[in-house]
Amino acid sequence: MLVVQKFGGSSVADAAKVLRVAKIITDTYKKGNDVVVVVSAQGDTTDDLIEKAKEINPRGSKREMDMLMAAGEQISISLLAMAIDSLGFPAISLLGWQAGFETNSKYSAARIKRVNPERIRAELDKKRIVIVAGFQGLNRYDDVTTLGRGGSDTSAVAIAAAMRADLCQIYTDVEGVYTADPRKIPGARKLEEITYNEMLEMATSGAQVLNNRSVEMAKKYNVELEVLSSITVAAGTKVKEVTNMEKMLIKGVAKDDGVARVAVIGVPDNPGIAFKVFSRVAKAHICVDNILQSVGRDGTKDIAFTVPAGDADEAAEALRDYCEMVGAKELLVEKDVAKVSIVGAGMETHENVAAGMFEALADANINIQMISSSEIRVSVLVDKKDADRAVEAVHRHFFGA
Ligand code: ADP
Ligand code: ASP
Ligand code: MG
Repeated sequence: MLVVQKFGGSSVADAAKVLRVAKIITDTYKKGNDVVVVVSAQGDTTDDLIEKAKEINPRGSKREMDMLMAAGEQISISLLAMAIDSLGFPAISLLGWQAGFETNSKYSAARIKRVNPERIRAELDKKRIVIVAGFQGLNRYDDVTTLGRGGSDTSAVAIAAAMRADLCQIYTDVEGVYTADPRKIPGARKLEEITYNEMLEMATSGAQVLNNRSVEMAKKYNVELEVLSSITVAAGTKVKEVTNMEKMLIKGVAKDDGVARVAVIGVPDNPGIAFKVFSRVAKAHICVDNILQSVGRDGTKDIAFTVPAGDADEAAEALRDYCEMVGAKELLVEKDVAKVSIVGAGMETHENVAAGMFEALADANINIQMISSSEIRVSVLVDKKDADRAVEAVHRHFFGA
């Protein structure tokens, strides 16, 4: 079998952990498998590197930031290869470009265009365990790029897809995907299985256990994904196309506090206004999520929407001239908000799921600012200070804990 194993930053945070991970890898190799390993930077290395840059130049170019951030993974791959060697097994570490990762040029949020696994294959043929630096690639100018925070998951899935691996295992610091963040909600339950679509909505809604792009890619290329612990030996969570757990009404509750709300108050209630507002935001390459438009009154209406918190000021800036031009009353940016979502394919066949979420929030006296939904997700925007309580209340409503 060809197995891809990915280890996150917390799984390789110190020497003892690197050695434990080496043991997991060599146990897989000893069983006769070809093993390709993807590793993240140790512990808080990436955050520390970003801090270092800020001390010198808070507005360093994205190209240089990528050059810097990619260094974290170079440390962990070489240490892990040495750890495997110390256990008496052959290993070789490869940077993203050596492993054939070609990306576009969007520094710090690059997309993988192609993985050319020739070198990896050659090393596997030499019976080596191949250790690849996650989170990084090379663009058409031969410059180093990074894939966005949490991008190592995507590196692992991309290799699994390109090499048609039999299995892609994502090892992390919890035992799998839970009904809510197990570090915040002690009663959260581990899921045996979850569908790609559900996992994609969970990840996009803030469950950071898997990066959403990795799930998107796993779905597209039908990669068998498994999330499991690098610390304890226990069955993890399988992510796949169909599961046997459709009876569960919802699979989980997630929180995203990296969002902000932008509101345009008192724009004319005329045709084409939404188009003009959102085309300006789109031109600034900002992704809009929840959208709310008020009922028109006295010839005006309000339009509010959410964007990633880091893009909020830029989104408002993109609208400022327009707001002045049409005589809007106000342009507001609210950053003290968070999105709480429930996710589950069970919603498609049960009508009362959203109402259950709203009931739980009402009982907890939490005000809902905006609501949005997809076929298998309902999200609400609440005050940031209420967000943890909201997750707790909603989780208790659906899971009793
Ligand atoms: P890694 O360093 O392995 O990439 P991450 O910190 O990115 O790990 O992701 C694992 C963390 O995701 C867990 O420690 C947990 O706190 C958090 N998490 C959030 N939501 C969930 C969930 N629904 N199930 C499991 N873990 C979750
Ligand atoms: N080291 C990178 C980060 O901290 C990539 C990853 O962990 O997946 O975001
Ligand atoms: Mg991660």
